[in-house]
Amino acid sequence: MTDPYPLDLAHARALDAADPLPTLRAEFHVPRHGDGEQAYFVGNSLGLQPRGARAQVEDVLDKWSMEAVEGHFRGNSQWMSYHHLMSESLARLVGARPQEVVAMNSLTANLHLMMVSFYRPTAERPAILIEAGSFPSDRYAVESQIAFHGFDPTTDLIELAPDQPGGLFSMEAIGRAIAEHGPRLALVLWPGVQYRTGQAFDLAEITRLAHQAGALCGLDLAHAVGNTELALHDSNADFAVWCHYKYLNSGPGAVAGCFVHERHADNRELPRFAGWWGHDASTRFQMGPDFVPTSGAEGWQLSNPPILGLAPLRASLDLFDRVGMPALRAKSLRLTGYLEALIDAHLGDILEVLTPKTPAQRGCQLSIRVRGGHEQGRELFGYLSDNGVLGDWREPDVIRISPAPLYNTHEDVLRFVLATLAWRDTL
Ligand SMILES: *Cc1c(COP(=O)(O)O)cnc(C)c1O
Repeated sequence: MTDPYPLDLAHARALDAADPLPTLRAEFHVPRHGDGEQAYFVGNSLGLQPRGARAQVEDVLDKWSMEAVEGHFRGNSQWMSYHHLMSESLARLVGARPQEVVAMNSLTANLHLMMVSFYRPTAERPAILIEAGSFPSDRYAVESQIAFHGFDPTTDLIELAPDQPGGLFSMEAIGRAIAEHGPRLALVLWPGVQYRTGQAFDLAEITRLAHQAGALCGLDLAHAVGNTELALHDSNADFAVWCHYKYLNSGPGAVAGCFVHERHADNRELPRFAGWWGHDASTRFQMGPDFVPTSGAEGWQLSNPPILGLAPLRASLDLFDRVGMPALRAKSLRLTGYLEALIDAHLGDILEVLTPKTPAQRGCQLSIRVRGGHEQGRELFGYLSDNGVLGDWREPDVIRISPAPLYNTHEDVLRFVLATLAWRDTL
């Protein structure tokens, strides 16, 4: 019988050549390794630079140099409405209506702004539920919001511990926690894809459970956007936040994203921290003293946006529009499935995949535990880096490998496996 997963670069290249979605790798700058390119699996941390990004940034620089203040009002890419250039594409990407999304600020800043409106604790209902082991910034944000309102994070920040091996959560455990704490819950804040384990969640179901308990529901999609297919509007979540420098490839510290469900679009009762760019655009420049929010997510904007910071996002969204999330996700399933199959077939003695096996419960990332523990894990990680295979390291013994379907290939995946086998031979 022939090996279905031969350790053969020619085979991996044949898979790439035959793939229904040809790689868009040529649209990106891939860091060099020796005479070739890196196998770069760190798009979950900082996505590669689209080749189109430079032209978008230069367009802004040129416009600024030639038109100065007039650049706000001239041409299709005028700065007054620059953020609108992205609304349709962003909405498609996350399954929302254009009015429900906006690119602004950074992720953590947006999380705080959203909590100003959607975390309204009372003495009876002061608590926020998040997952234990959440991304530190999210934890700092919710903890400081609880304290800001005069409540006590030691009792009112509820961190649900994983109930499954490898740090995973069953829906039953999430449902039980929401039911148990329901009467005290003001907000459930949940990730689309958990950054440590790569587990993806049924966001509509979590939202349904939160609402049923009388709480609001917010989502952190930092690791989900551009990775899984999202249906934010239908999920019914109250708000969502995400960043654009991971799978969205828009550069370090890129301007982030924010979703506010349509049912809150014109709710003037909601408290919010206001700024002039959130003011009704038709009367903004009357410069009146009273804040009249513009309808939808844009009403939460504070400042006129950093146009230079937004420019790369245009180049990135062009690529997502060209391919579409369904085709991209289908390719992602093939690439990550290939990685998993190769690990199972050839590396099971030294590596253990912690990420769920069910494709619906993960994005592209596999979180891989090195069975030999911390020291061996560090050694393998160093060996991979020295050989041009870039993953990232999570203490104490996990390597995250995230094949990004826009630019990673079956060949990249096989390079990870071959390098790991070569390292095993040194043991
Ligand atoms: C990447 C990430 C962040 C980063 O926050 P910034 O405000 O963009 O620096 C926050 N939360 C999660 C879950 C993340 O994955």
